Amino acid sequence: MEPRSRGPERSMSTSPPRSTAPVPQLIVAGGAVLDVTTGTTQTADIRIEDGTITEIGTDLDARGWSRLDASGAVVMPGLIDAHVHLTAFSADFRALEQTAASYVYAHTAKATRETLQRGFTTVRDLGGADHGLAQAQQEGLVVGPRVLFCGHAISQTGGHGDMRLPGEEHSPGTPGSCGLGTVADGVDAVRAAVRNEIRKGAHHIKIMASGGVSSPTDRIDSTQYSLGEIQAAVDEADAANRYVAAHAYTARAINRALRAGVRSIEHGNLLDDESLALFRERDAFLVPTLVTYWALQEEGREHGLSEGMWQKVDTVLQTGLDAIRRAHDAGVKLVYGSDLLGGMQRHQNEEFRLLAQVQPAIDAIRSATVTAADLLGRTGELGVVAEGAIADLLIVDADPSADIGVLADIADHVVAIIQGGQIVHSTPRLQVLRRGDDL
Ligand code: ZN
Ligand code: ZN
Repeated sequence: MEPRSRGPERSMSTSPPRSTAPVPQLIVAGGAVLDVTTGTTQTADIRIEDGTITEIGTDLDARGWSRLDASGAVVMPGLIDAHVHLTAFSADFRALEQTAASYVYAHTAKATRETLQRGFTTVRDLGGADHGLAQAQQEGLVVGPRVLFCGHAISQTGGHGDMRLPGEEHSPGTPGSCGLGTVADGVDAVRAAVRNEIRKGAHHIKIMASGGVSSPTDRIDSTQYSLGEIQAAVDEADAANRYVAAHAYTARAINRALRAGVRSIEHGNLLDDESLALFRERDAFLVPTLVTYWALQEEGREHGLSEGMWQKVDTVLQTGLDAIRRAHDAGVKLVYGSDLLGGMQRHQNEEFRLLAQVQPAIDAIRSATVTAADLLGRTGELGVVAEGAIADLLIVDADPSADIGVLADIADHVVAIIQGGQIVHSTPRLQVLRRGDDL
């Protein structure tokens, strides 16, 4: 069940070297370093070599090193959003299947850059992003978060990944299009679909295990896929040392997916007590995505959501906060997910404010750092400021565990963002002292 810690992101041997400048040897000096596990801060220097944190301590020798003065600022791990759709330039999923890939990827390049500027140095995409986008990011062709992808989300006929209207009799999907989903029915077809995504480098597999909002013919309260089909997906993912994430709203859909071995439940708004027990028993994760309902209700219709779909939003929004409160109280592992589409992606950090309504701020922060890294199978590498971790750092002007607004209103508070040891975003709040410079 446990995914390998080093996914295909590291094994694309055909990748040419990064086109960007060599990663500098850097010391981030004098910041208040937030240990997200304990929830405490301590002033320290951080030494970064070849993209990795190699030393944390006080008064590190900075002679001959580039030095970033973080005194007065808070240094925390780069954020992880575990439920995004980077290619979803519109909330209308049908439009994605009918738009030229070149146009979709122009939008995607903008979305990835803005996501990084909001402090997210890693994302888990749950439908749409593929190996090409992940490779482009690795090579520095696209500025954005590290991308862990599933390729297409796998759906049954008439399920959340089937975008046909009732009057359409053609085959589902459009070959070569940027649609988020693919349709497979029956155990053999599901196995083949999973194997095909793994063939293309998927880090995880996404299945649709209940109805959803952005699909034209299904209902929120439907379960999708037979138990045999879900188990087939889990078996195939497990065989490749991958795991399955399942879109599911109702307790009925959540519980059967958990019993079949799914590792993360996406949304989960209508969970029940049995779900809470199953999450703990199966060591599974819940990825609630509240901000997407908040944003859909605010402005979904402006971004292409039809009136019928907009009506579905209220059903899932009302129960969402309550589900998170109950899951948090029951000790379920919660992971940050925004699931925003189109122009609504700019509200990505609003999820922090929603989460902090029902749990302490530090737990909301953990959901986007350490716990997210656990879900991704990258414990100790991502989501922590620690020796041996990848040097993904978010530097902000105040402590977000004392005021979650620091992350929710990130543009007002970000000082600098470091990804893989490179300063990828900085603001006038930052002072960098180059070798030999005096303060
Ligand atoms: Zn979903
Ligand atoms: Zn989604």
